[in-house]
Formats: sequence, structure tokens, C-alpha cells
Amino acid sequence: MKIKFWGARGSIPVPDSRMIKYGGNTTCVEVSYEDKVIIIDAGTGIRKLGEDLTQRGINKADIFITHSHWDHIQGFPFFELIYSSKVKLNIFGCTNSYKQLKTIFTNQMSSEYFPVSFKDLKSDISFLEACGKQYDINGFVIKTIQANHPIFTMGLRIELNGKSFVFITDNELLSQKQTTKREAFVDFINNADYLVHDSQFLDSEYENRLNWGHSTFEQVYALAKDANVKNLGFFHHDPNRKDDELDEIEKRFKKQGKIDKAGFEIFAVKELDEIKL
Ligand SMILES: [Zn+2]
Ligand SMILES: [Zn+2]
Repeated sequence: MKIKFWGARGSIPVPDSRMIKYGGNTTCVEVSYEDKVIIIDAGTGIRKLGEDLTQRGINKADIFITHSHWDHIQGFPFFELIYSSKVKLNIFGCTNSYKQLKTIFTNQMSSEYFPVSFKDLKSDISFLEACGKQYDINGFVIKTIQANHPIFTMGLRIELNGKSFVFITDNELLSQKQTTKREAFVDFINNADYLVHDSQFLDSEYENRLNWGHSTFEQVYALAKDANVKNLGFFHHDPNRKDDELDEIEKRFKKQGKIDKAGFEIFAVKELDEIKL
């Protein structure tokens, strides 16, 4: 499978010359195999993905929405596939603790916010409730876990041909209101080829960000060690985090990994990064 990150920023898009390297677009990840495409989240990164899919002639995709916070859905009205009558999209999400996804996507395109209404879209879009533990889609095995976040948020483990990619964004590992305990994340992630996890804060910043629903680099590094992963990617970069700071953090953790003999590669995810598994 191939994984491509179309947006790695958290909270809000940041078009800023100090943040070009890691990118300013919010969460959107493409997982593909041949012409089978799974999309995770519809942050602003999905706009460029739409251009790319159109060029590749792809007119079918399954979209998993981890949760409906702005930075995970705001690119949807700009995803050009939704305007094509040749396109079929399935949108999966679990809305246990909030409104139905279809209502959220429709409201986002109501006339107060956007000129084109959802009902006028030409593509065929289905919304599917996905609160279960496992889905088998086009050969991909997709397992889910509930993250610790103010609303229901799903983490995903995607497996194909013996390889595994775990993507958990917007998750406060050590939240005081834990819905999922750290041990359960360790089990879920265990032996993954890649773990990409929310690491919005540094430990030194965390005290003032308790219960915002995000983790720290230090916490995620420790989790990756306990779960015996092969590669760790830091994700959902804070909108104030500049390129030189992320470079420095990445360097620091690579060094720490060597000292600890952690046995896995560490990187901060950059927009347009690709992984082949
Ligand atoms: Zn977010
Ligand atoms: Zn969120």
C-alpha cells in the first residue's frame, strides 16, 4: 500500500513562510493500493488530493472521518470529486456523541457558509455509520479504536498484504477523562510498521493544555517504544510550530532513539510525504 499525507497541520490551516516545509494544510491522508483509495479526513489537504485523483482518473473512494472538528472536515466543499456525476464516495464515521455526519456535512455547506448546497452536488455520496471494531474494504482490513478527545474520535489501523499503518490523530493519551486506556493503545498499535500519532505539544507546554484532547511528543515516543513499532511519525502539528522548531524536535527524538536503542525510525510528518509499504 501507499500512504500520502496531504495535510499534517492541526487546528487551523497556516499559510506561513515559516511553515512551508511541514506544510499548512490540515489533516488529510490517502491510503491506496492500485486504484483502490481510502481517504482519512477531509481537512484542507483534501483539495490537492482531489486534483491528484482527477488527474489519475480515480472516481471512487472510501472516506473515513475520524471526527467532525473543523480541521478534519473543512476541505470537503473544495474536494473537486464531489462536483462530478461520475464519482461515487462512501463516507464512514461514528457519531455516537454528536450529530449525524450527513447533517454536519450538509450544514457546513448551508448558504450562510458556502455558495453551493450539499443537495446540489452531482456525485453519489453515501454516509455509513462506522462505530464497529473492524471493516474489510477492497482488501484492506481496517480496525478502529476510540481516541481520548472531547467528541467521539476514531483511530485506525489499516492492514494489507501483511503490512500495517496505524493512524491516530486527536488523541490525548494521558487524558484525565480517559475513554481508552494507554494499555489498549499499546495493544492496538503493537508491532505496526508505521505509527503516525497526534503530537501537538511538548511536555513543557502540556500543563496549560490539559484536556484539550492532544498528546505530547514525549508521550508518543514512549508509546511507540512500548508498542514495538518500526517507524514513528509525529503528526497534527501545532499551528504555532515553525519548521525550524519541528526540525529541532525531530533531531532531538532521533538522537534519543539512538541513545535508548529504541529500534525504530522517527520523523515529523511533512505535507506530501509518501510511504510505500
Ligand atoms: Zn484536529
Ligand atoms: Zn479534534
